[in-house]
Amino acid sequence: MCTAQRHYQKDADGLCTQLTKSLPKKGKQEFCIDTKSFIDAGWVIQEQELQLNETIGKGEFGDVLLGVYRGEKVAVKMLKDSSVEAQKFLTEALLMTSLRHENLVELLGLVLNEKHLLLVTEYMGKGSLVEYLRSRGRLHVTKKDQINFAVDTCSGMEYLEFRKVVHRDLAARNVLISEAGVAKVADFGLAREENYIVDAGKLPIKWTAPEALRQGVFSNKSDMWSFGVLLWEIYSFGRVPYSRIPLIDVVKHVEKGYRMEAPECCPPEIYEIMRQAWDLLPDRRPTFKDVKTKLAQLKVVTIN
Ligand code: ADP
Ligand code: MG
Repeated sequence: MCTAQRHYQKDADGLCTQLTKSLPKKGKQEFCIDTKSFIDAGWVIQEQELQLNETIGKGEFGDVLLGVYRGEKVAVKMLKDSSVEAQKFLTEALLMTSLRHENLVELLGLVLNEKHLLLVTEYMGKGSLVEYLRSRGRLHVTKKDQINFAVDTCSGMEYLEFRKVVHRDLAARNVLISEAGVAKVADFGLAREENYIVDAGKLPIKWTAPEALRQGVFSNKSDMWSFGVLLWEIYSFGRVPYSRIPLIDVVKHVEKGYRMEAPECCPPEIYEIMRQAWDLLPDRRPTFKDVKTKLAQLKVVTIN
């Protein structure tokens, strides 16, 4: 039994089901998988049903391929060989099975067999939001597009807030755009239930709230901080935040009161939301529900 499995058996740690069974593999590998609940719930896809095509992205766990499943284009995340990665990969999958919303990238199923561990999700034809913004820029991305991306992302996050799930890695690189132009939140690799405490080793510093960086305490309010940075990315057409500050100094500056300026031509109402999201006191930050209402109002008056 691997350490992670012992841990998960003790308390479910924000997973929707406990990991109860391990699949020993040849050599050093050992996957801890709740195979039974995946199978029972109908999440297992037979490999023959899945056609794999070209690589469309590189993820933390391995390549992302374009595939075809039941006549539809799908994205397939392949797992690199490593049991630690397998654990995170399956955590992501388990969490995704319990979440469903039009602004969250949908899990379609998993291939679980001796050779492969594949995560099959809906295909998001226009790629990541940050690439979308950078490649099209201010000539092609309209005010209407920007407010739509903001509302879509906020709606997905409002649902996570309602479900008491914390994303912990919200950023424009982790929002994907469908062929129809709808923005959906992706990448639940770090998502957990509220107030789950982690060590700060691999955190996305420029997107993470100070209390999460310093004390490892994440909440829907720390996601709101990240959402403020995401809004800044949308309205700056995908620029890198705090580009003139060395990474190690960002949190010090922020704690002393430094905040990014409003991007050029950013509506004042949007910048006001950023400033509220970047309050050092988590409780003073707005909820996603509040922000969604404000953004929806702004959307109505945004013509093009
Ligand atoms: P990781 O978080 O492990 O780094 P991501 O989920 O962010 O991996 O995926 C890496 C890249 O692969 C994305 O930036 C995107 O370009 C592409 N990609 C991932 N999922 C999809 C999808 N469902 N549809 C289209 N492209 C995707
Ligand atoms: Mg990612």
